[in-house]
Amino acid sequence: MPTDSLAEIVAAVGKEVADAHRGAGKVADYIPALARVDPNRFGLAVITCEGETAEFGDAWLPFSIQSISKVFTLTLALERLGEALWTRVGREPSGSRFNSIVQLEAEKGVPRNPFINAGAIVVTDAVLAGRTPEAAIADIRDTLRRLADNDTIEVDKEVATSEAATGFRNYALANFMRGFDNLNGPVEDVLQTYFHQCSLRITCRQLARAGLFLAREGLDPLNGNRIVSPEHARRINAIMMTCGHYDASGEFAFQVGLPGKSGVGGGILTIVPDRAAVAVWSPGLNEVGNSQVGTLALEKLAARMKWSVF
Ligand code: GLU
Repeated sequence: MPTDSLAEIVAAVGKEVADAHRGAGKVADYIPALARVDPNRFGLAVITCEGETAEFGDAWLPFSIQSISKVFTLTLALERLGEALWTRVGREPSGSRFNSIVQLEAEKGVPRNPFINAGAIVVTDAVLAGRTPEAAIADIRDTLRRLADNDTIEVDKEVATSEAATGFRNYALANFMRGFDNLNGPVEDVLQTYFHQCSLRITCRQLARAGLFLAREGLDPLNGNRIVSPEHARRINAIMMTCGHYDASGEFAFQVGLPGKSGVGGGILTIVPDRAAVAVWSPGLNEVGNSQVGTLALEKLAARMKWSVF
């Protein structure tokens, strides 16, 4: 009996999920510019290590990358600082909300992991490394362009301004960590960089392509470029698996069984070790802040493809 091709499975899963659930969840509105996104959007893109692609729906439409950018700044910071990064940020799931400040006091300004906001702000400080925010933002954007093999990726200035105007919790986190000497750069510069990295616009198609190096131990399988060492790629995947979905990371491992990173823009990047990278986007979030329909699509796709690492 002929087995279904990747394209057929992606189309079938996409259609099934979109027909039954399109528009479910609640669009993030704590960043005013994000609240205006059409909740009915739904995109899904897969790219394999052999370069085969399969897409469904709005895979071509740019959305706000938000916290998924933290995967790429972690990549940059690890390559620059190496193991020294781990003196400034941990790698344990936090079990609390992405913007929580409570653990920071007890843990002396060293955030639990690079994917909660506090940890990501420390990582951004490491990427900033004494440069101007403009230089660091261009560096992050260009890294993403290079990895996605696409020069159209840009910061959405309106979202960045909106984040800066309302990011009081992030200012609190950054100032708090500065008080513990865990930020080197000026709070303003670090946050300006952070808000801009979160405001990059990217499509599912571009995002899957940009993450593909993580499926091949840090080597881009399509052009042979080494992006990070195999060790660092393993570590990034491990942190995506354990910390990539805020305080629902255990649930994502349970349901999908793959390293992934979500963002409040409704996107999720997922890595299938040795096989593929998958990006999904649906703006409505569940109560923990992860894309509701996106998670469901990944659950079904991973099950159909037998992709879970467990
Ligand atoms: N820019 C967002 C914030 O800092 C990112 C949140 C997210 O996607 O988790 O609040």
